[in-house]
Amino acid sequence: MGASGSTGGQSGGGSAHRRTALYAGLAVLLLALAALTVIVSDEEVRQGIEPAATADRTEPDLSGPPQTSADTRRPSGHAALVDNPLYSTGQLVPLPCPAPRLDVHDPASVEKFLDTVTDCLDDAWARQFEEAGIPFDPPKRVYWSEGGTSPCREYPSAAGAFYCRAVESIYIGTSDVVEKWGGTEQSAVYASLLAHEYGHHVQGEAGLLEYYHDQRANEPSRVQANAWTRKSELQANCLAGVFLGAVEATYPLDDEDIDAVLDDAAATADRPDAPAEERTHGTAENSVLWLEHGLKQESPGACNTWAVEDESVLQ
Ligand SMILES: [Zn+2]
Repeated sequence: MGASGSTGGQSGGGSAHRRTALYAGLAVLLLALAALTVIVSDEEVRQGIEPAATADRTEPDLSGPPQTSADTRRPSGHAALVDNPLYSTGQLVPLPCPAPRLDVHDPASVEKFLDTVTDCLDDAWARQFEEAGIPFDPPKRVYWSEGGTSPCREYPSAAGAFYCRAVESIYIGTSDVVEKWGGTEQSAVYASLLAHEYGHHVQGEAGLLEYYHDQRANEPSRVQANAWTRKSELQANCLAGVFLGAVEATYPLDDEDIDAVLDDAAATADRPDAPAEERTHGTAENSVLWLEHGLKQESPGACNTWAVEDESVLQ
């Protein structure tokens, strides 16, 4: 299940000896990497709908994700952020994605709902990555009803949902998420949360998390590191909007659903009185702005928060 080394190598006509030597070399390399990378995780957190108490806010992990793929088709470096081929793929193809009925009091129903929407997310983004010529594996899904551990954190946690890059998995608590979101029966809110976490997976597969983590880790202060985190979070909001826009007609999402989703984006943003050291998700205004921008444009190219010159939309 490791995030690294899952690419199948084509071992052509080499002798068994050469292959054995190659594998031995690879094993040594992997061990060395494992020793070097300490704990590699990317945990991104959305807060509950209630104004989150400061203690609830989990620190984004400053360490980077593992070297996940030797595939050279995956963008890297600064260009992966600002000039990613994914940005040129145009609008997501409108998907038939009828949402199943959701009984928020039944964890099995919540799980079925999340599974169905994740199927749609897999289809939509796989197509987009193919268009971009970037390899794509869908994320693994972990829907918890009991506590457990991930390489990124233990759960249940302050967050009802998180993405862990180290194992390329989306984690969602089927009861916790309902509780955190105040028991709302508006399924679009959960779809939006899921699409946001999926947005972090899209960032990872597009190759931009690695450079982003490095840059963030190099910042001398928490406040400066947070500027990077906000760009990542606001991009994930926008990518969520892109998906919601693509399924709007068939889900279907009506005006009330859209309003609920936008209200949620405001509620899960940084609190107005939060100090700069804690401002990792953007103001309510900007959180809504990027989600709505994605919803309207329906294209990942609209979500390039890394190349925006107007800093005010990144606060
Ligand atoms: Zn996030």
